[in-house]
Amino acid sequence: MRARTLVVAPNWLGDCLMAQPLLTLLKARSPAAEIDVLAPPAVAPLMRRMPEVSEVLEVDWRHGNLDLRERWRLGRRLRGRYAHAFVLPNSWKSALVPFFADVPLRVGYSGESRHGLINVRHANPRKGAVRAPMARFYAQLGETPGKTPPERLPDPVLSADPVAAIAVKATFGLAPGAALVALCPGAEYGPAKRWPAEHFGALAGQLAARGAVPVVLGTQKEVPLGLAIEQFSLGRALNLAGRTSLDDAINLIAGSALVVSNDSGLMHVAAALGRPLVALFGSSSPHHTPPLAAAARVIYRALECSPCYARDCPLGHLRCLREITPAEVLQQCEALLADPAAGQPAAV
Ligand code: SF4
Repeated sequence: MRARTLVVAPNWLGDCLMAQPLLTLLKARSPAAEIDVLAPPAVAPLMRRMPEVSEVLEVDWRHGNLDLRERWRLGRRLRGRYAHAFVLPNSWKSALVPFFADVPLRVGYSGESRHGLINVRHANPRKGAVRAPMARFYAQLGETPGKTPPERLPDPVLSADPVAAIAVKATFGLAPGAALVALCPGAEYGPAKRWPAEHFGALAGQLAARGAVPVVLGTQKEVPLGLAIEQFSLGRALNLAGRTSLDDAINLIAGSALVVSNDSGLMHVAAALGRPLVALFGSSSPHHTPPLAAAARVIYRALECSPCYARDCPLGHLRCLREITPAEVLQQCEALLADPAAGQPAAV
């Protein structure tokens, strides 16, 4: 009965993809074991595209809320179903469902004093230490505490549906063979991870002049950013921010010839779909959260203040991103578009 594994997913797209190597390793060790994932709606569509995942238990709990009664009810409903649980977020409340479900082995970082809730505990990384690659941070949970994961981890991979990609293009009046360049200017974390809208707009204008079709992807929160980029591009970029579901955005990325993205969830989506990608890093570090794909080019200034991991630039100038010019990004885009090894669009 208890053959299944439950994974409590992180709350962010990028983190979910950085956690996928852990799922791949678990599946490789026990191919017959079913892996179910407990995930909020913001990441559930992504988790459904991971080949390692059997079932996604979608829970719509408000970020920041304890929702104790709902967690208890779900835990009791899941009693006896799972042999292992991997709790990927560090919060106390994220460990409650496996505890209420009486899962015998509940694995996670010590996090917020989770003694008892987590019974296979890994030590939290030391405060102030250089941050290890995020994929290794999660993969560590697949090992016994103290033992390190394999040196080379599998890259994240998402499934793509070519028919769905063509259908979503048609929804937005885009031809099936349009050479889409997906621009992903958002970064939920904060402005210190966002390349300026005027730079994205200038790049979009130059890409359009070369026959590409730049489209801006993002959530409802990024609508103003998308509108600004549309304006800076003199109307050459099509702003789809706030107009797509996450599934639509993934399908559009799968059908793109190229993606230009900040260090954000959609950057990791593009990498996992194997799309040619130019990734722009500001206050964060490409050593900590690199795009895990061969066809990715990273632009990172590595200033004396980098990486500061701030949400807003503490120095007020945002040189780490402002100094990355549209011409420099365009050069990388052209190199990728001219490189047959960077691959053809997955879905056109
Ligand atoms: S302090 Fe430096 S790395 Fe941090 S946001 Fe400002 S310019 Fe970028």
